[in-house]
Amino acid sequence: MSEMERTLTIVKPDSVRGNVANEVLGFFERAGLRIVALKMVWLSKEQAEGFYVVHKERPFYSSLCEFMSSGPSIVAVLEGDDAIARVRTIMGATNPADALAGTIRRKLASSIQENAVHGSDSPASAEYEIGFFFSKSEIIQTERKQ
Ligand code: UDP
Ligand code: MG
Repeated sequence: MSEMERTLTIVKPDSVRGNVANEVLGFFERAGLRIVALKMVWLSKEQAEGFYVVHKERPFYSSLCEFMSSGPSIVAVLEGDDAIARVRTIMGATNPADALAGTIRRKLASSIQENAVHGSDSPASAEYEIGFFFSKSEIIQTERKQ
């Protein structure tokens, strides 16, 4: 049984800079995922460090946080059946050299670091990452009645 989930995606600074933010979001919309929250942010280095705190011991942490604060990003909450895993599949592998044909990263990523898009990798990280950017009142309640 599939389950209705919410996940966080980031259209990373390379995609916004390259004017392909619409393409990244289009991959998700065409797959039937619903955008239930959306905003543009320009992360500070400190905010990027907080968002990626799970990677703080990794050798790429500092340059990743530089990249993530190098320009504006678009952050969004996506909702749908199995949204967390489906977003990861649509994104493709972290390294675009390994990403399958038809994935966002295969088409739009330029390197293992500047790889176009982020997606939460588990229910726990989705909860942390959604809360990092959005308050409850900023997320559309799809079951709302008029
Ligand atoms: N990253 C990097 N060098 C690496 C691995 C990852 O710069 O060797 C960056 C890349 O932007 C990646 C992010 O760090 O998207 C987070 O890494 P993770 O392993 O969580 O990949 P993801 O979940 O984004 O596929
Ligand atoms: Mg990750």
